[in-house]
Amino acid sequence: MVRVLITDSVDEYIINGLKSRGIDIDYRPGISREDLLKVVPGYEALIVRGRTKVTRDVIDAASRLRVIARAGVGLDNIDVEYAKARGIEVINAPEGSTQSVAELTIGLMIAAARLVSLQDRLIKGGEWPKGKYMGIELFGKTLGIIGFGRIGQRVAELAGAIGMRVIAYDVVDIGDRASKLGVDTVGFEELLKRSDFIAIHVSLTPSARHLIGERELQLMKDGVVIVNASRGEVIDTKALLKAINDGKVAAAALDVLENEPPKEPWEIELVMHPRVIVTPHIGAETREAQRKIAEILVDKLVNYLQR
Ligand code: NAD
Repeated sequence: MVRVLITDSVDEYIINGLKSRGIDIDYRPGISREDLLKVVPGYEALIVRGRTKVTRDVIDAASRLRVIARAGVGLDNIDVEYAKARGIEVINAPEGSTQSVAELTIGLMIAAARLVSLQDRLIKGGEWPKGKYMGIELFGKTLGIIGFGRIGQRVAELAGAIGMRVIAYDVVDIGDRASKLGVDTVGFEELLKRSDFIAIHVSLTPSARHLIGERELQLMKDGVVIVNASRGEVIDTKALLKAINDGKVAAAALDVLENEPPKEPWEIELVMHPRVIVTPHIGAETREAQRKIAEILVDKLVNYLQR
């Protein structure tokens, strides 16, 4: 019988869905690294979310492993190349959280443009800040989307419904999908120069690390609003802090950080900044996204294991 080890907390549909198809599950969310290395040789499949680091030593120890499944999108916690070289398949469910991340992005854009979180904090501190801050409307503004994949495209559709003008940049040819959505494709620098709002939706490839640094921030419009719900490493945190302190960037909303939770002094200063909104990497944390991810993953995993 096929044995599956789950080492992070996952939607119960994954557990029930696999059990109902006769697959033997060991559910051990939060298992220590030491225990993982001890038990992993006994399993054909390993299911993780973002917490478990599936590094070379784990893969080397997993002598019977045929498949690693990531309940979600990002594969940055898995040494995919090494797993594949050892003949282990790596599967994920990237389409499951697209709508949830896109909705959060729009919510963060509005929250940043109206300083929702700052006003709420002031009220909770006993103030009534009516008239203290002037917000920005999204209607008619230019939204620049960097990374026009699943999430970037969905954000474009939602932003279009609000009345934003959308431009996009990607490293691959996005001409067809962009024109279908009424989006103009532009070069990277042009996007930085023209956008009132910038939403970052790139995958974390080596070229995307610190894609937004001091030079790129300088090219942006004064008063730009930046939203990042992709991966923290895409923005140079120190450079962003400087740009916010200088008033170059009006507000930033970040669902992801270089360190989660933040630990460097400049990261702490950034998250404490009144014009910065931070959420703890919750893009995919909705009941609906977790259920969709679970359904997709169970189907893929069962198909693979029955081959
Ligand atoms: P996707 O693969 O469909 O799209 C990513 C796009 O980024 C691709 O079109 C790719 O060509 C482009 N890209 C890569 N490097 C680039 C670069 N240097 N410059 C410009 N474009 C570049 O992925 P997706 O499903 O749309 O997800 C996008 C991002 O959102 C990923 O980083 C993913 O990890 C992240 N994500 C975050 C959460 C969250 O909880 N906040 C949840 C799901 C996904």
